Amino acid sequence: MKGYMLIGGKKVYKQEEIEIRFPYDNSLVGTIPRGDEKDIEIAVEAAKIGYEKLKGMTAFDRAQALQKAARLIASKSKEFAELLTLEVGKTIKESMGEVGRAVNTVTLSAEEAKRIFGEEVRFDAAPGVKNKIGFFRRVPLGVIGCITPFNFPLNLTCHKVAPALAAGNAVVIKPSENTSLTVIKLAEVLIEAGFPPEAVNVVTGYGEEAGDALVRNKDVRMITFTGSVETGKIIMSRGGLKKYAMELGSNAGVYIDKDQSFRIKEIAEKVARGGFALAGQVCISVQRVFVHEEVYGDFLEEICRFTKTLKVGNPLEEETDVGPVIDKGAADRIVDWIEEAVRMGAKVVCGGRRLSDTLIEPTIVKNVPHEARLFSSEVFGPVILVNKVSSLEEGIKEINNSPYGLQAGIFTNDLKSAFKFAEEVECGGIMVNEIPTFRVDQMPYGGVKESGIGREGPKFAIEEMTEIKTICFDLS
Ligand code: NAP
Repeated sequence: MKGYMLIGGKKVYKQEEIEIRFPYDNSLVGTIPRGDEKDIEIAVEAAKIGYEKLKGMTAFDRAQALQKAARLIASKSKEFAELLTLEVGKTIKESMGEVGRAVNTVTLSAEEAKRIFGEEVRFDAAPGVKNKIGFFRRVPLGVIGCITPFNFPLNLTCHKVAPALAAGNAVVIKPSENTSLTVIKLAEVLIEAGFPPEAVNVVTGYGEEAGDALVRNKDVRMITFTGSVETGKIIMSRGGLKKYAMELGSNAGVYIDKDQSFRIKEIAEKVARGGFALAGQVCISVQRVFVHEEVYGDFLEEICRFTKTLKVGNPLEEETDVGPVIDKGAADRIVDWIEEAVRMGAKVVCGGRRLSDTLIEPTIVKNVPHEARLFSSEVFGPVILVNKVSSLEEGIKEINNSPYGLQAGIFTNDLKSAFKFAEEVECGGIMVNEIPTFRVDQMPYGGVKESGIGREGPKFAIEEMTEIKTICFDLS
């Protein structure tokens, strides 16, 4: 069936199409139109009308529509989950988890729609000012461009679109070319739930073409982007004067203290799950593990034992734990990085084999040097490196030895160590006795350094997606 975009509530087809393929066996899932600059212009014009129409919806109306959208997504859980597995290649268990989270994100946004507040400004606190009274309000920006990645096409699009609509903004979405069908389905649900059709637009196509046109469009007041650092930098250099929210990559680190031998098995399993979920293609996947020398040997043994029990294969099968990576190019790069680290002195202690074009065994590598890309960059694949350290201070130093700073974790029984770690590690989120992969959708989420700018989580995204208007009355 020919794929379509959604502009002003209308299905738009195009001659030129892009194929979407199942990462596991490369079979055809569907097609999407190759949208271009003209389509973006039409979608932005539609969104401007959508924004005007949204002004007729009260906070209550917007909350009601989002609640209805959440119910609709929940009622179509199975359909959404199957499509997610076919587009992303994540396991069906992971897809069901993503649908549940999307329902929660939209529900949280509905609740926040009713809590967009300003406050009184004390004008008479300035010398000589009398009889002036006023306040500020948070008002929507207008049209927001949402650019989303392949790995969580449903929930991460909800993290942009639901807060935007909650605050009264219209959107134009450019989804990843690999995973656009899920996003079209989400937009249809939002319109069915009661939002003006012109307020929710999706233009499919290539990042460099449709994405770039959205970024450059002068009527788009903000770009909210989730994706790689490289793309984030390009967007900010081309978009000109507008707001930006940037949710970028990382190579998350975790430190395991010397007092953890009593639960090393439990920690090893947690770390492996955090590194191999979605075949390591999560922005907060555990990539770098630093273990105190007193528990290093036991940790390595336990993590390898558990990793070998994981079932790698067809993500449509219920019992599969680890599915494929997104495409052959990604798998080529990941294998190349493992080989590079080995050439530099690292050792693969379990896994490491390539099982097909896109399937890579969950892999543990030890003694990885700082110069290896496996240490310094984001691997975005099923690979965890485990290095030995001799103190908390060294663990903190190693974790901070990264261009990124999204989330980090520490396992310790010592309160002072936990506080020191939380103070000194340069990240947007610190997890104590938890892996850095932990996230709930209401928390402020985002990075420092090259991991980004701004925070998501509906309450925090709404702050980014509104601006302050000051209103002052002279009563003299
Ligand atoms: P990506 O290659 O950067 O692509 C992200 C989006 O940007 C896609 O829709 C892409 O379109 C589009 N794009 C590419 N070039 C563009 C340009 N010049 N102008 C405008 N848009 C452009 O990222 P990805 O591979 O899909 O996702 C993986 C990355 O996302 C990882 O680095 C991961 O850490 C990060 N991520 C971060 C978070 C977070 O919350 N911090 C969450 C999830 C993922 P095409 O698909 O058509 O190229």
